[in-house]
Amino acid sequence: MATQNTPMSFRESVDFMVDKAIAAIKLEPDVAAAIKSCDSVLQVKFPVKINGRIEVITGWRAVHSTHRLPVKGGIRYAPIVNQDEIEALAALMTYKCAIVDVPFGGSKGGLLIDPKKYTRDQMQLITRRFTLELVRKGFLNPATNVPAPDMGTGQREMAWMVDTYKHLNPDDINYIACVTGKPVEHGGIRGRTEATGRGVQYAIQEFFRHKELVKQIGLKGGLGQKRVVIQGFGNVGYHAAKFLSEEDDVQIIAIIDRCGAVVDEQGLPIQELYEYKNKNKTLEGFGNLKFIVEGKKLLELDCDILIPAALEGQIDEKNAHNIKAKLIAEAANGPITYAANQILHEKGVMILPDAYVNAGGVIVSYFEWIRNISHIRFGRMQRRYDENRGQHLSQALKTLTNASLPIALEQKLTTDADEMDLVRSGLEDSMRTAFQELKQVYNSMDEVTDLRTAAYVIAINKISRTYLDIGVY
Ligand code: NAD
Repeated sequence: MATQNTPMSFRESVDFMVDKAIAAIKLEPDVAAAIKSCDSVLQVKFPVKINGRIEVITGWRAVHSTHRLPVKGGIRYAPIVNQDEIEALAALMTYKCAIVDVPFGGSKGGLLIDPKKYTRDQMQLITRRFTLELVRKGFLNPATNVPAPDMGTGQREMAWMVDTYKHLNPDDINYIACVTGKPVEHGGIRGRTEATGRGVQYAIQEFFRHKELVKQIGLKGGLGQKRVVIQGFGNVGYHAAKFLSEEDDVQIIAIIDRCGAVVDEQGLPIQELYEYKNKNKTLEGFGNLKFIVEGKKLLELDCDILIPAALEGQIDEKNAHNIKAKLIAEAANGPITYAANQILHEKGVMILPDAYVNAGGVIVSYFEWIRNISHIRFGRMQRRYDENRGQHLSQALKTLTNASLPIALEQKLTTDADEMDLVRSGLEDSMRTAFQELKQVYNSMDEVTDLRTAAYVIAINKISRTYLDIGVY
């Protein structure tokens, strides 16, 4: 419990934010307690031989809610991870899935390691051993608990996990669905790697379609030419920066990474910067840009939109007063503490909450899981059929009108949708629909004065119905 001397933990911060929604809908306290509690947490400590020495590695997998199965949530590898953080992230997963109508419970996992310290082979050894622990203890299974990538993990780790699970369960016909975020060649789905960043883009685009909200925070016009600062240049930060700058004409004026930050008021060339970072492992030395070692300070830069896409607790009571952005899109999980959330609200800053903004990953993971358990790629049955129909339609129009069709229209009619098109379309629809539901609650309930509480009202209402309708077993 937080006291004057000990700051509020991440878990407490999430619970306090959820409490506002619980109070707004006047949910019975015992039902609220049942929803908020974390079902189970597994802690493992396992030995691995690295360079001839035995290292004992600690990991966790928390299951927050099993009101829907399987439970879903990423696995992070980081030098700072603890049980409280994993429980908080598992809870966020429960609410996130409910907000965007993905029929999963919430879970999260973590390994206390610095992935940069290990070679590829060592990472494989560690990942396979962790998977063994999770499978043997019932915390990894396509029907009950399905991990995905998070900070410090990616397709590579997911491929090792699925392979380890397959060897342990060769008779499980759905083995490939035991994790999502896999490489496409190993049962993954096109569009999963970009999904969270793509979802961030769709969320911000949708916000700018609602002119009265844009006006409320003192911005004008559409998304084009807005000045954006992004913290975190990994999977989520990079993809959000790339899509917003390339497709929405947004100027990314600063990128803040673990190593430091770079600024360019004219807009940074995101793709070049990303390639430079991958090659040199730092943003320092890129072009003629000034490199700022104290990158975190740039969260306070004058901009329209701030996108924290790195880690939790980055905006707290110390820097919240100095934030100049009018809109914050929480691409990371928990980047704003409870205290900072209050300060920003009083300043009139609009926050698109994490449990909504970064849901793109779990939405596309859901598509991947469905593709895996149905054992067929999306579009495989009807793709050619649709293409032929389009060609017949185009031919019929030409014959009836005795005129040729505009090239763009002809292309639209005769081009079939591939898996990537379908995934993006499903993701965009999910993000737009969820935002409209958030806004409806925000506008219609006096007790709800911010979008985060609106999001949690939606989540708690959906989850509480399963407790109230079905009862507690
Ligand atoms: P990642 O490991 O690919 O990238 C993390 C980035 O943050 C790196 O560029 C790293 O240098 C930077 N970073 C780390 N510490 C930092 C610090 N102190 N200051 C500034 N930058 C720092 O991770 P990711 O997958 O992009 O995840 C980022 C956030 O998004 C996390 O909060 C994660 O939980 C959340 N998220 C990720 C996904 C997903 O699909 N990957 C889905 C939902 C939410």
